[in-house]
Formats: sequence, structure tokens, C-alpha cells
Amino acid sequence: MKVKKIEVGSLETNCYVIRSNGEATIVDPGGEAEKITGSLKNGREEDPEVKFVLATHFHWDHVDAVADLVDQLDVDFYLGKKDLELFEKSGELDVTPDRLLEEGEKIEVGRNSFEVWETPGHTPGSITLVEEDERKLFVGDLVFSAGFGRTDLPGGSKSELEKSLNRVVNLDGDWEVYPGHGPVFHLKEKLASSPFLSDLKEG
Ligand SMILES: [Zn+2]
Repeated sequence: MKVKKIEVGSLETNCYVIRSNGEATIVDPGGEAEKITGSLKNGREEDPEVKFVLATHFHWDHVDAVADLVDQLDVDFYLGKKDLELFEKSGELDVTPDRLLEEGEKIEVGRNSFEVWETPGHTPGSITLVEEDERKLFVGDLVFSAGFGRTDLPGGSKSELEKSLNRVVNLDGDWEVYPGHGPVFHLKEKLASSPFLSDLKEG
């Protein structure tokens, strides 16, 4: 897969355009729809077929361009099932989720398959996309290269965040982590620099 990171909106959210074998998905379109659709064009390559847009969690800085993209690209919107309440309370989006994702579901883009993990803590319905073949994780605001997702917003939970982090750090091997803000990093490096995380790692 090819992953393009586009920083969007006032909080510089990382929106990821993931392409694989002529297909694509857009993760966390937090604003600036035009910038995102512009990045779908890639020189001489044919424009990919965008299969869906997905939000790792329902916070405005991750969903602000969803309605525009759904409208322009005529695609479905995927969201973690347990963030439905945040979505309903916000009343901000002009679209409703077409698919509500739950633990263990698999979603395909081109040759790649992403397993959905429910990783609550930052919000109740935060999800992580786990791509085992290429060892890539799309974690939203669970963990950043410097720091962790905040848990003081509605539905946040420090103990849930810790449980979610515990799952992630106990993955075997090295993984490339694509967070909702800031630089992409390797899980091993993060573990080496974070006593808190390395304590969560078993064995
Ligand atoms: Zn957030």
C-alpha cells in the first residue's frame, strides 16, 4: 500500500490517503476536502477508486470534511459503532455513518486487509486499523510519537486508554504507527523512549 499523510484543519490532523491496487480509502478527513481530493491525483497514475472514508473516532478535527467527501466522491462513511452516541449528540455532520465498525471486522482496500480493533479511551468508539502483512497501525488519537490521547473529553477514560495501549504494545514485531497528529513513528522506538509504555509490555 501507499500511504500519503495530509495535514488538515486548524489542529493539523493527519488525514491519510491509503492506496492499494487501484483502490483507496481516506482516514480521518478532518477538513480541507479539496486538499484531500487533490492528493488523490498522483501524476501519471490513474485516479484510484475511493471505497469509503473512515474516522478513527468522532471528533470534529477528524470528521470535518466527511460530508463534503461523501458528497463529492459518492462513497460510504465508516465509524466505530461505539462512537455513534458522540455522533448523535454532536448533530454536526450532514451525513450518517453507512457502516458501524466493531471489533474483529475486516475491511479491504485493494490488496490490503485491515482488521478493526476497538481501542477506547480517547473516545468510547475509537478504533485502530491493524494491517498485519505490512505491519501498519492507524491509531487515531490513541498514541502519538510524543504522548498519548487525552482522556478528559466526553466519553474519555484513562483506564480504557491504558487497556487499549496494552493491546497495541504487546503486538509482536515492529510496527509503523500512523497517529492522528504529528509524525509517523515505529512502535519499537516509542517503547524504548517511554517507560510508561514499556511497563505495559509483557515479558
Ligand atoms: Zn480526538
